[in-house]
Amino acid sequence: MADDTETLMPRTRELAGWRGLAERLPLPRRAYVGGEWRNAESGRTFTARNPATGEPLAEVAACDAADVDRAVAIARRTFEAGEWRELPPTERKARMLAWADAIAAHADEIALLETLETGKPIGQTTSVDVPGLVGGLRWYAEALDKLYGETAPNGANSVCLIDREPVGVVAAVVPWNYPLIIAGWKLGPALGAGNSVILKPAEQSTLATLRVAELARDAGIPTGALQVITGLGHEAGQALGLHDDVDAIGFTGSTEVGKKFLEYSARSNMKRIGLECGGKSPHIVTRNVDDLDRIAMYVAYGVWYNQGETCHAGTRLIVDRTIKDELLARVRQWADELQPGDPLDPDTQMGAMIEPEHADKVMGYLQQGRDEGARLLFGGERVRRDSGGDFITPAIFDEVTNDMRIAREEIFGPVLVTIGVDGLDEALAVANDTDYGLGAAIWTNRLSDGHRAARALRAGTVWVNCYDHTSINAPFGGFKQSGQGRDKSLHAFDKYTELKTTWIELDA
Ligand code: NAD
Repeated sequence: MADDTETLMPRTRELAGWRGLAERLPLPRRAYVGGEWRNAESGRTFTARNPATGEPLAEVAACDAADVDRAVAIARRTFEAGEWRELPPTERKARMLAWADAIAAHADEIALLETLETGKPIGQTTSVDVPGLVGGLRWYAEALDKLYGETAPNGANSVCLIDREPVGVVAAVVPWNYPLIIAGWKLGPALGAGNSVILKPAEQSTLATLRVAELARDAGIPTGALQVITGLGHEAGQALGLHDDVDAIGFTGSTEVGKKFLEYSARSNMKRIGLECGGKSPHIVTRNVDDLDRIAMYVAYGVWYNQGETCHAGTRLIVDRTIKDELLARVRQWADELQPGDPLDPDTQMGAMIEPEHADKVMGYLQQGRDEGARLLFGGERVRRDSGGDFITPAIFDEVTNDMRIAREEIFGPVLVTIGVDGLDEALAVANDTDYGLGAAIWTNRLSDGHRAARALRAGTVWVNCYDHTSINAPFGGFKQSGQGRDKSLHAFDKYTELKTTWIELDA
């Protein structure tokens, strides 16, 4: 998920240094509404936990409809007053750049908050997640004074202008797996375009987001233009989805909850709904390949990076039978490298699963696969149990058929399923036989097979001879039940702006 436009940050601390910082780090725990830290009106809280230890971190405000009403009213007032949207784009750009600089200046602290609440390795939150957020915000800030309108050619007697206007109040509802990067994909275009944005982080990953939002105020972004509502999905998230004064939702999360937002929209004010949902991405390896070592590395990182908790993880390895065993032997070597460890250790490459319930679900799929007749080649064990956290080793199933549940449903854990095929036609048919369409990849040294596959694969992103190449200037999103609309690139503005057509009749 790292944007390759960003340079990696230098290693700043060793394990003891991170532990020391964690002990003295203040933990934000209240919602950020109108520039103030607020408890939920009901007084209720939920517990934020450290997935690597199981220990509680903080009691966080559990906002509900009453808190959402307050935040939406502030957002609307800010929008109508023009405090933010009427600033010249160069000024919005300058303030967003200042905000990005402030986040970069607090990178260690923000990365650590994210590691503590999600169990992601600190080596990755410092080198991928925080730089990804900063890079995304900078890219959108830089775009703001370079977006032009259009003129429709309609003859000598009229002028027909086509402009973009901010849609109004936007709620960004985001998941826990890349909480900062994905927040940036929403905030960059939505806030940049002049909307008032209310961010609803997942209940598992609130703390880093709160710190990031607080820094926006010092950068001159009006406090009503960016607020954070903390709380549970079925309370705070639902209240935003059903609110009649929210104009658009930018959602990333599961397909199941994405469908709920479509319902919320239909039941309320027909608000615009952008959806980035789940995936079950095929990773095809044809027989016409040379460098199996390199491919094995991409297969391994493509599925096991971030503990397998990645929407576009290449979870279905669709491989030609002639090379299957040779490739799996090499992928297995990577699994040995990627054993889970303490997320605060900068050398750790795999951290903790987000929460015990989720780890149980992943273990349930591992059992399901065996019951369905697939062969678990290795991995899938719960380890580091005395840490108090939930860690699962990288796993590979072989002898999987595409009708098994482990091949059809999003497991969202470190589980690769392998489906052997005979030739490219079968590989493409299996690859497309899925409800999802987020990412897909093919390895081949035949140019025409690469092009043919890129056209045939029903996915928002296709990688040919690579996996997970990404940049903030390239659209990201899904076909089919992986969502609608696109994050990243200039296309993301489509979700948060309305087109306005203005006709002007000219005097004869
Ligand atoms: P989730 O759908 O459970 O939650 C996402 C967000 O929706 C959270 O903020 C949550 O609080 C909120 N929510 C939950 N229930 C709700 C409800 N009933 N009403 C309103 N809001 C509700 O997803 P998750 O477990 O946080 O994240 C994992 C999922 O996200 C996976 O399916 C993954 O594929 C997907 N994802 C997709 C992308 C993408 O770009 N397509 C990126 C990352 C993650």
